[in-house]
Amino acid sequence: MTADPSQQQRPAEEARERAEELRAQIRYHDHLYYVVNQPEVGDSQYDALLQELRALEDAHPEIITPDSPTQRVSGAPSAAFGVVEHREPMLSLGNVFNSDELSAWHQRVVRLLEHDDFAFVCEPKIDGLAISLIYEQGRFVRGATRGDGYRGEDITANLRTIRSLPPTVDLPSTPVAFEVRGEVYLSRSEFARLNEERAKNGEQLYMNPRNTAAGSLRQLDPRITAGRRLDLFAYQLGWIEGDGAPATHWQAMKWLREAQFPTNPVAARLESIDAVAEFCASWVEKRDALDYEIDGVVVKVDEFNLQRQLGAVGREPRWATAYKFPAEQAVTRLRRIQVSVGRTGVLTPFAELEPVFVGGATVGMATLHNEDHIHELDIREGDDVIVQRAGDVIPQVVGPVLSRREGKDLQPFEMPTTCPVCETPVRKEPGEAAHYCPNRACPAQLPRQVEHFTSRGAMDIEGFGEQRSFLLTRLGFIQSLADIYELPNRREELLALEGIGEKTLDQLFLNIEASKQLPLHRLLIALGIRHVGGETARALALHFGNMEHLRSATQEEIEAIDGIGPTVAQAVHDWFRDPDYAVLTDRLAGHGARMDEDVSARGGQLEGLSIVVTGSLDRWSRNQVEELIKQMGGRVSGSVSKKTDFVVSGEGGGSKREKAEQLGVEVIDEAAFIERLRERGWDGAGA
Ligand code: NAD
Repeated sequence: MTADPSQQQRPAEEARERAEELRAQIRYHDHLYYVVNQPEVGDSQYDALLQELRALEDAHPEIITPDSPTQRVSGAPSAAFGVVEHREPMLSLGNVFNSDELSAWHQRVVRLLEHDDFAFVCEPKIDGLAISLIYEQGRFVRGATRGDGYRGEDITANLRTIRSLPPTVDLPSTPVAFEVRGEVYLSRSEFARLNEERAKNGEQLYMNPRNTAAGSLRQLDPRITAGRRLDLFAYQLGWIEGDGAPATHWQAMKWLREAQFPTNPVAARLESIDAVAEFCASWVEKRDALDYEIDGVVVKVDEFNLQRQLGAVGREPRWATAYKFPAEQAVTRLRRIQVSVGRTGVLTPFAELEPVFVGGATVGMATLHNEDHIHELDIREGDDVIVQRAGDVIPQVVGPVLSRREGKDLQPFEMPTTCPVCETPVRKEPGEAAHYCPNRACPAQLPRQVEHFTSRGAMDIEGFGEQRSFLLTRLGFIQSLADIYELPNRREELLALEGIGEKTLDQLFLNIEASKQLPLHRLLIALGIRHVGGETARALALHFGNMEHLRSATQEEIEAIDGIGPTVAQAVHDWFRDPDYAVLTDRLAGHGARMDEDVSARGGQLEGLSIVVTGSLDRWSRNQVEELIKQMGGRVSGSVSKKTDFVVSGEGGGSKREKAEQLGVEVIDEAAFIERLRERGWDGAGA
């Protein structure tokens, strides 16, 4: 890291004081993170403290102390466990945050080695905790946490509960004694399972898989650890006694695999730093498809000789670095819990947050789903909360930082008893989590319904949008969705409105006219029937062919369609029994809106098949493969059930594959899927 010039200008004394302050803060957070497993700040906030300290120390090397968190690994071993001295220190890793920093790391390595003729190994950086495993005479004899890097905690008994950890190694090439290093983690699916169980028992939910894994592994009672189904990836062969030391990390990993250690299947040996940069960038997007959390990619120089030559500085080896992804969690203050009313009248609480930078964007609001969810997590106004933003997902509040609530008088949240917009008393159906405003004329609902009806995936009437939907409903032009088709008869009145010119209006009318030609499934989406999204609408339209058949269908007939469960079937059936909606449907038909579907798609190569795609595929992105399946008449389902015809499983995707195996549903890999498409006449085109 280069010295920051602004830090250089600080007088040494001031720098020393600030450094001490930072060290105290870092140690405090280290303790919460490594020992108590309950951090109070997000990783990026923690990293910022460490970076500031590092910059200060770079500018004033004389203030570095040997015990500074920049110089040694944090996490003093707890006295509750036996202590294990590591024969070779377990270090941390330096970080880079973008391709420029990666290239600066590379240049430094090239400078130190005086050549650039070497290869790299890239591996996902598993967000778990580091462990050391010792084998003697082929038997696993001792396992330890990293601790402070020199001395770790003896957690042998707990490690034995991990099913993927080989208790013995009996290859002919097994050294007399050796150490394996790896990362223990909790899969996302196991994390979800644990939390479901906790929610059922009314227990406080776990915040994230990493802290849960750390807490589970450092239990004094191994039976508790055994109940958590932890997993392991070996990522390094440590010291060895005896012959047969491999010459490269890649060879060592191959040996570990042969010796039955679980190693990461997506690791790659790459020849150039450009290929490394590409690998790192590709995993920023693909990370969410894995069944375990990763917070970056570890880049290692492959050859051991070169690793030795490069050595370490402070707490970091020079021969490796971590390409860190933007942190997906941060801590911030929850200012208020507000409630919005959606187009179906559902009341949705959301968090108004003190803005915080997380997952690559500034977040000021996050969904809180419903009242039960808020109570399960025990989130209160005024709490400091952990906020998560993963991929393009809407930001979520993961939970409160309870240690920061102490001494504050914060009240549990209560849902308003009346609609915040029209003040009608709100209702809640038994067995459903959502509260809703039953007033169909609620001014919050109609404009949103119009906005939805006219939106792109629905009737696609360009020229509405949020503002015009609100204006036309507020002024009474639209009191029912069918009134949209009356607008062309009210040209003069509309022209009198400010902001609508003749040209715009005539274009809007053309768009309204054109929308009448859209097939039935688009109209079904537009009507906003509860639980009916694109997939369901398409399935209904294809199955029944026209509105009359759908209208007269029984609930059983609807439920018989693949992918439609009882809740959805009932919602659809009830909707068509409602007299208001019967009038609406008749009026739309009267205006000439199309009421049937083009059922020629029924003959597609994947017609009638319900397919689940899990993990990441090489050939297509998730969206592409889903689009392709739809184009070929198949249905993409998000979860595996008995109605699933087969599962296409790419890299990762463990839980859905397991579920399929339990249910006896066929699982095929990408190559077999391509083969199947070809058998069915696919010509390689599309998506
Ligand atoms: P690190 O996690 O950034 O990197 C080193 C670790 O990476 C290794 O010890 C190993 O456990 C792990 N790793 C995963 N996959 C690996 C692979 N394939 N090869 C090699 N190593 C692999 O460094 P650290 O010192 O362990 O911890 C720092 C991290 O912990 C940072 O992300 C920091 O933000 C976080 N932290 C947060 C808080 C907080 O309060 N939020 C406090 C302390 C630390």
